[in-house]
Amino acid sequence: MTMQLKDPSLLKTQAYINGQWVDGTDGETFAVTNPATGEHLADVASVGADETRRAILAAQEAMISWRALPAKTRSELLERWFSLIIDNQEDLAVLMTAEQGKTLFESRGEVAYGASFIKWFAEEGKRVYGDIIPTPGDRRGVVVKQPVGVVAAITPWNFPNAMITRKVAPALAVGCSMVLKPAAETPLSALALVELAHRAGLPAGLFSVLPGMDAKAIGAEMTSNPIVKKVTFTGSTPVGKLLMKQCADTVKRTSMELGGNAPVIIFDDADLDAAVAGVIVAKYRNSGQTCICANRILVQDGIYDAFVERFAEAVKGFRVGNGMDNDSTHGPVITEKAAAEIHAKVQSAVSEGAHVVLGGKPGALGGCFYEPTILTNVTNKMRVFREEIFGPVAPVFKFSSEEEAIAMANDTEFGLAAYLYTENLGRIWRVSEGVDYGMVGVNETAISSEVIPFGGMKESGQGREGSKYGLDDYLETKYICMGGL
Ligand code: ADP
Repeated sequence: MTMQLKDPSLLKTQAYINGQWVDGTDGETFAVTNPATGEHLADVASVGADETRRAILAAQEAMISWRALPAKTRSELLERWFSLIIDNQEDLAVLMTAEQGKTLFESRGEVAYGASFIKWFAEEGKRVYGDIIPTPGDRRGVVVKQPVGVVAAITPWNFPNAMITRKVAPALAVGCSMVLKPAAETPLSALALVELAHRAGLPAGLFSVLPGMDAKAIGAEMTSNPIVKKVTFTGSTPVGKLLMKQCADTVKRTSMELGGNAPVIIFDDADLDAAVAGVIVAKYRNSGQTCICANRILVQDGIYDAFVERFAEAVKGFRVGNGMDNDSTHGPVITEKAAAEIHAKVQSAVSEGAHVVLGGKPGALGGCFYEPTILTNVTNKMRVFREEIFGPVAPVFKFSSEEEAIAMANDTEFGLAAYLYTENLGRIWRVSEGVDYGMVGVNETAISSEVIPFGGMKESGQGREGSKYGLDDYLETKYICMGGL
């Protein structure tokens, strides 16, 4: 058994609906496996449309008294939940590494990062201010913000904890309720999180967690049920588009955090050491499986060769292995299928003339492992330029001018995160304003935290998570005209 939990009761395998742990439809389960070892970890209850409907009804009921509470009381529950997560950080990290594959170091970081959203929104939920608008004559306009209602959330496997907390924390903080479907690859982190919410005193029905194999059935209920007023999703762009279409029939609000194709633009005048260190983090974190991972590294011709040399030197120092092993710097990717898809993109680039500087093949450990890879001689016609790689593969493109770099950066339907390295102040402004991305890292790639608005433009999505802006996604704006004054 690769999971040694201090508190074994955090390993939950049932669905959590209306404050109760329940079995799957007709006792159905699905297997969760460790991507590093292939080991079977647990059989988890698989629920479908009926259970989803039941959870939505419970959420509607629970919201009535929850939204009427003082924000301070809601905040106290979130604070207790936050503390329990921090108290159990190590167990949550072990569960995450076991089911997701990222290193324990990364998992511990994600648990702290995930918890930070709960703390932040516990505080921010107390500051839902409105406005008074001076209008002519005997009237005044008053603007109040109210909870949007029952929210349905669907989350991915790459951040099994934080993609949940950054949705549920603002929702609960402002008085909404939520039903959530975690990714089938990583339900254990979600179930442990809700077990801790239960221990913190979460009222029944307020937050249900619905693991299930049939994502389509659960998603169809969430998007068609008129009780649900909002759908928030993090995942791939095709599924996001499908959910938006499905939501159109009942005109639900949506927040979509979809795919990325992040450029890192490194200019001749950049601090090369900082750029190499930044790209290492932005590219290989979570083995390349984050939506803000560097997908295309654009380097100016004057420092191209020097950059590639230093970059390759640094990547050679990686120790890829089981994330449970403290010596490992990088874990596997999520599934063998994902590893095969990554390899197909590399092979496609090589067949079109790319040079493999490092890696370029499945990992020596087999299974879900893929070698950290660097490609040069790559072009904007290749799949590694056009598509999100979602793996440890770094294609390094060459450009000559600032204008060309901006054009290359924007030559994609995506617009989530972009990064640039330069010491020139004017260029920092020109490029930051010139790239069509929701987030821009200047001489920095570790850009995310609970205090900033995370989200994308174009086909990378809509809405923001975290920060004061993240509250808006869960609030309606109501105008009240006060007449006869
Ligand atoms: P990824 O490539 O990260 O797995 P997906 O978009 O396929 O991206 O998955 C993200 C989440 O969306 C997961 O929880 C998955 O189960 C869910 N999902 C996938 N297809 C659908 C669908 N048709 N309807 C609703 N949810 C879906």
